[in-house]
Amino acid sequence: MRAIKADQAAQLRLLDLQSVDSALAQLDHRRRTLPQHAEIARLRADRAAVAADLVAADTIVSDLEREQAKAESDLEPVRERLIRNRKRIADGTVPDPKALSAMVDEVEHLKKRIGDLEDAELEVMEQLESATAARALLLTRTGELDTQLAELERRRDQQLAQLDNAAGDKRAERDAIAPSIPAALLALYDKSVLSHGGVGAAELRQRRCTGCQLEVNAADLRAFKAAAEDEVLRCEECSRILIRTAQSGL
Ligand SMILES: [Zn+2]
Repeated sequence: MRAIKADQAAQLRLLDLQSVDSALAQLDHRRRTLPQHAEIARLRADRAAVAADLVAADTIVSDLEREQAKAESDLEPVRERLIRNRKRIADGTVPDPKALSAMVDEVEHLKKRIGDLEDAELEVMEQLESATAARALLLTRTGELDTQLAELERRRDQQLAQLDNAAGDKRAERDAIAPSIPAALLALYDKSVLSHGGVGAAELRQRRCTGCQLEVNAADLRAFKAAAEDEVLRCEECSRILIRTAQSGL
């Protein structure tokens, strides 16, 4: 590998660029790992479950309403017939005693039938009442979840806006630094960033590569000491671009 050359100032600027890029990566990481993301996902799952329960509760309520309407419409002709029969008995308009006796029997039968139908209707009404109450609870829960979600989303958006602002500032810094670094060094750095988890250039500090944290061995140290100032060094351990500073200990 032929060594790239770049004057010392440009090499130091590369450390500044690395610091800005690390800050940008950190901001991006914070953007993706905001605690609100997980909380919002959990609340949305809850909200979806409650919505499904609500659909089921609506179905139960409307089925029971239909049942109640049916019970009421079943009762109507029986009640009318009872009224009619009672009126005819009271009027004395039934001609013969046999027919009158049959009608009195029917009145008893109709009263019993009405009682049975009313009992059935009452049972449906009780079921409808508790189904309506259950649905009301779900509606309340939906409202609560919506409120919580809106608040969380507001806080998330606030955080995102702050992070975006900070990232905008960092990108402006980057745009100011990048032009002062020679293209070849920048290209090497970009490649190194990609293959080294975001850290392409590291300071040689106290004889240690701050990229991989390993101490430079004696032989490499001698080679680094002997290298020209404008020679771009690479860490022998991690192959990151290694930048010499006053703290390098050379
Ligand atoms: Zn290293």
